[in-house]
Amino acid sequence: MTKHLLLLVGVWGLSLFSHPAWAQLAADAIARKYAETIQESDLKKHLFIIAADSMEGRYTGSQGQKKAAKYIANHFEQLGLTPPVADGNAKSYFQPFQMVERRIDNATMSIGNEAKTFLKDFYVLNYSAMNTPTSLPVVFAGQGEAQDFAELQAQGVSLQGKAVVCFKSKTTADEKAKQARRLGAQTLIIIIGNSQKEFDEDVSFNAYYIKKATKQLVQKTPPEQSIFFVSHPTAAQLLGIEASNLTEKLTIGTSAAAPVELSVNIQDKLIWSSENVVGLMEGTDKKDEYVIITAHYDHVGITNGVVYNGADDDGSGTVSVLEIAEAFAQAKAEGNGPRRSVVFMTVAGEEIGLFGSQFYTDVEPIFPLENTVVDLNIDMVGRIDDKYKKLNNPNYIYLIGSDKLSSTLHQLSEEVNQTYTT
Ligand SMILES: [Zn+2]
Repeated sequence: MTKHLLLLVGVWGLSLFSHPAWAQLAADAIARKYAETIQESDLKKHLFIIAADSMEGRYTGSQGQKKAAKYIANHFEQLGLTPPVADGNAKSYFQPFQMVERRIDNATMSIGNEAKTFLKDFYVLNYSAMNTPTSLPVVFAGQGEAQDFAELQAQGVSLQGKAVVCFKSKTTADEKAKQARRLGAQTLIIIIGNSQKEFDEDVSFNAYYIKKATKQLVQKTPPEQSIFFVSHPTAAQLLGIEASNLTEKLTIGTSAAAPVELSVNIQDKLIWSSENVVGLMEGTDKKDEYVIITAHYDHVGITNGVVYNGADDDGSGTVSVLEIAEAFAQAKAEGNGPRRSVVFMTVAGEEIGLFGSQFYTDVEPIFPLENTVVDLNIDMVGRIDDKYKKLNNPNYIYLIGSDKLSSTLHQLSEEVNQTYTT
């Protein structure tokens, strides 16, 4: 634990003061002063609350998790951290996110006046809602490969607002859809096989996955258009041609006279609703750059009446974030605040799939990711493994990922380790 906290002090040192370079890092009295405010007794005080039975093991979405969230937010408020999450006209420390179970309630496809049948003529995957039936012109894009889309562009065929029909190939449906969308297409329709029989076989093989509900985080705006899959005869009908003419020889850019009408109605069942807890300390001359310090505060809840308190995993990291925030707050109050902005964030949903972090990075980053210098995540600093037990030395950490993306973070941590530990 000690070394981990000292690593953070190193980054802090760099943000606070203008060291000539990390290579010349010398023990810094001011950084050390605030690091030393982080005391075992303070960590223990918070941990006995965060990991208490009354927190019910902090299972994501549970009352216990929400109670822990309030405790953390109160602490951030007492420290004077800024609540950064927009909540109507107010600002909040809580970043809410939800998990739903999503299934297709009903999907329709009509060509002219003829309604096609779900699972007999077509199916849909990777769907987002198209609640209102939408009428789209149809255009053929060959195999739906990059060169096919390039050829369409060269021919001056617009895909804007159209349903693009193409054969299945080695390129994934998602990749084809991405290329079609980039050129303005509304949706992608992929032809499965060369006969009704091949489509039927595909459906019987995939029916489970087509009908299955999928768990997903609620997105602010649905990121994808639905991708439809059709039988060969249905595709020929879509393009207004004889089935025998629907081959690889069919001219790219062939358009149908009649539009296709599509809809997808989805059903969402709320599974849980949770929140990350976020507090901001604004920096000075580099305040548009962000250092994020995270830990997950959720744990696995109660099983068979036994509360899994999660003191180590990750109560220990959570209370470390609280104490690091406090040390920074004291430094700032005494005129030694950080140059970069520091974001203190405890996330939920970790134990069941890293959902709090995923929501922050993929759905709703509160601060621009491109201005985020580093996220230092703390997990389980309360454990001493057998190797170090034998050595009777708790003064170690496992550092993961410092040399993965950054060319300097690992060197920096090595320097700090050598400078501040004995
Ligand atoms: Zn953990």
